[in-house]
This record gives sequence, structure tokens and C-alpha cells, in this order.
Amino acid sequence: MNDERYRAAWKALDLLEDWLTTGYTHAHPELILERTDAGVRASAGAAAPSAGQDGPSLLAALAAEVAACVKCGLSANRHATVPGEGSRDPEVLFIGEGPGAEEDRTGRPFVGAAGKYLDTWLPPIGLVRDQCFIANCVKCRPPQNREPHPDEIGACLPYLARQITILKPRVICCLGRIAAQTVLRTTASLGELRGRVHQLPREFLQPDGADIPVVVTYHPSAVLRDKAALRKPVWDDLKLLKSLLETTRPKARG
Ligand code: URA
Ligand code: SF4
Repeated sequence: MNDERYRAAWKALDLLEDWLTTGYTHAHPELILERTDAGVRASAGAAAPSAGQDGPSLLAALAAEVAACVKCGLSANRHATVPGEGSRDPEVLFIGEGPGAEEDRTGRPFVGAAGKYLDTWLPPIGLVRDQCFIANCVKCRPPQNREPHPDEIGACLPYLARQITILKPRVICCLGRIAAQTVLRTTASLGELRGRVHQLPREFLQPDGADIPVVVTYHPSAVLRDKAALRKPVWDDLKLLKSLLETTRPKARG
């Protein structure tokens, strides 16, 4: 009971803050309390009005399936599964490659050096992490951070496809070649894929689902390794992402 009151008060403060800072209400991952609870992260979040009542429970069910999954060899060495986390009604779904050491330790996506760097990409395009959902192509850490193999990506892809269906993000941003090739169903290089807007292949959408634009940029880890060469193209890609958000943002949100 106390817990419920605490949550209600917390939510009211969130809503008030929204109105004071931007004049409108953001989608809120509802239970900030639950965010320390690794393993059910994807289930933390309010049922946003446009997201349908089943969203949180569908995400919780997915996270539970992932936690028990042994569909590929990556299950053998994982410490924690990393289903993904964030807003239930995201502006952007960021998709990375697979968990690293820190993610495997905590069960949370993009919390190591690459994640901290990714966080700095968001404010310049008018976003914070809570307005996004962050997921990966594979939900278990590949040993020594090697690239996930095609059979591992194939085994894990149904989870990502379900996340896209549940979340209906306004825009998808693929981080790095593996995510770009996986989501766009192509073998084209990152250089060929970035810098323009793609449409999410229909195989990821319900028959009646609206088109979802996809942009591609370099993986934050790659940029950290070669800032001099990659910062400028990433910034160009982020500007493209920002312009998509501006042109697709529903009028009600300002
Ligand atoms: N790199 C990824 O691709 N995903 C993570 O979650 C962390 C690092
Ligand atoms: Fe299952 Fe995906 Fe983990 Fe493989 S990487 S064991 S398919 S959750």
C-alpha cells in the first residue's frame, strides 16, 4: 500500500516536471523503483495510452522467455540475459549488437563505456534515455565480445521482432553494421547504409502496422576508437534522426 502511494506521488512529480519543462507529457517508464531489479527491466513501464494495455505484460513475458532461453550457444557463458529496457512508447528504438561485460554483469543494455558515450548523443537531438528503448540483436554476451554469429543472430531475432511489434517506436536507429544488416535484411556495408532513411522490412510488422523509418549509424564503440574519423558522420546521422522525429512527431506532443 505504501509502495502504491509512493509510486503515485512519484508519477505526479514526473508529470509536473514534464509540464514545467516542456509543456507536454512524455511517455514515462513508470516504476523507477523497479529499475534496480535486473531481469524484469523490460517490463518496467507504464502502459502508454497509444501502446495498448498488453504492452508491459508482453514485454515482461518476453524478458522471462529470454532469461530461460537456450536456443543458441551464447546461453552457455552468459551471466545475465540483457533483454533491453526503456520507454514503453519510445521515440527511438536503438538497436546494438550484443551485450558486453558490464551489460552481462548487470542485465542492462549499453551501460558500459559505449553506453555512457551513447547517452551523450541524445540531448543534442532533444532526447533522454527514458524516451527511448535500447535493445540488442542478441540478448546474451558473445565470449570476448566477438561478433555474434549468423546462427546466433537468427536464433535471437524473433525476440527483437516481437519487441518492435510491441513497442511500435517512432523511429529505429541501428548502431553499427551487425544491427543494420540484421534489421534491414541485407549484406550491404555500413557505409552504403548510413546517411539515408530506410523503411523497416514488412516482415517485422503486423499486416496492419504502420511503416517505421530506420536510420543507421556507427556503433558508439567504433566511434570511441576513432573519433577523428567518425564523429562527423555520426553527427550527420543524428541530425537525420532528429529531422525524422520532427516530421513524424504527432501534433499533440508539440
Ligand atoms: N554494445 C552493444 O552492442 N550493446 C550493448 O548493450 C553494449 C555494448
Ligand atoms: Fe536465446 Fe538469444 Fe541468448 Fe541465444 S542470445 S540463448 S537466442 S536469448
